[in-house]
Amino acid sequence: LNNLLEIGFVPTMGALHFGHISLMKTAQKYNKIVISSIFVNPTQFSQGEDLDKYPRQLEADLDLLKQNDIDAVFIPNFDQIYPGKQLCHVEPSDFSNICEGKARPEFFRGVATIVCKLLNIVQPNNAYFGQKDISQGILIKRMVEDLNIPVDIKICQTIRESDGLAMSSRNAYLNSDERKVSKILYKALNAGRNICDEASSNSSLEMSADRFVSSEAIIETIEAVLRSEPLVTSIEYISVASHKDMKEKNYYSLLNDGLVLSSAVRIGKVRLIDNVLVGNAIEDILFDA
Ligand code: AMP
Repeated sequence: LNNLLEIGFVPTMGALHFGHISLMKTAQKYNKIVISSIFVNPTQFSQGEDLDKYPRQLEADLDLLKQNDIDAVFIPNFDQIYPGKQLCHVEPSDFSNICEGKARPEFFRGVATIVCKLLNIVQPNNAYFGQKDISQGILIKRMVEDLNIPVDIKICQTIRESDGLAMSSRNAYLNSDERKVSKILYKALNAGRNICDEASSNSSLEMSADRFVSSEAIIETIEAVLRSEPLVTSIEYISVASHKDMKEKNYYSLLNDGLVLSSAVRIGKVRLIDNVLVGNAIEDILFDA
């Protein structure tokens, strides 16, 4: 079948919103068949995280998939994915101490393992992931390269609400006051991006020596904006990282460089993540932007 048809695949954990649907629309543009999956993967949740409370709304999800002409949806149960004790996992090296890995030690191994399983089961030609979870997207791109998994990974830009808040299944947890201020995260990341963009546009095109913006300056800028909002109850991380492997960087070079600026904060009790891309990272990473 794979020789005859281009299959596009969009894995999800359900509670579908337009961010998910937009990935599926992109998949429809480039593939004959689009398959989605819904599986809330327990192995990527840490103890005490919201696994039990994670929003589940299968009927509404199926309606939305139908309305959008998605060809098939794979909804495995836990035992189908993890029948008995697993001996083998995909363990990404050097990922446990970056971004999401810092607060959630099991996260990247859980993500890499479930995506590897789903790719092997569905066997798509192309698989679509959101920029919203950028470290996950970059990890999956590296995983299919490193393990020679025959699929093209496409990372598509984050879909946002009109005030800038990145769409997420977890936004439903925000109360109305928290929802109003939650755009602060995107605003803060943009302030970080602006100091890089301004430094680039102010520097002479003919400059011979490379020049830099320090990560410290970028982080301070982002943090100052976040701290201006009292409903931001904690800042879990602010990361300035390479778009190639998410390793933290000490500076942004004004010559030919790319960056991912990402952060996780709590607004009240709700954990939100977001990121922006700077310089070359935009064209290097994003598909169909
Ligand atoms: P999730 O159901 O949260 O695991 O997300 C499934 C896929 O949808 C992942 O590749 C996410 O990065 C992507 N996604 C989630 N929210 C958005 C968004 N606002 N814009 C674009 N992609 C998204």
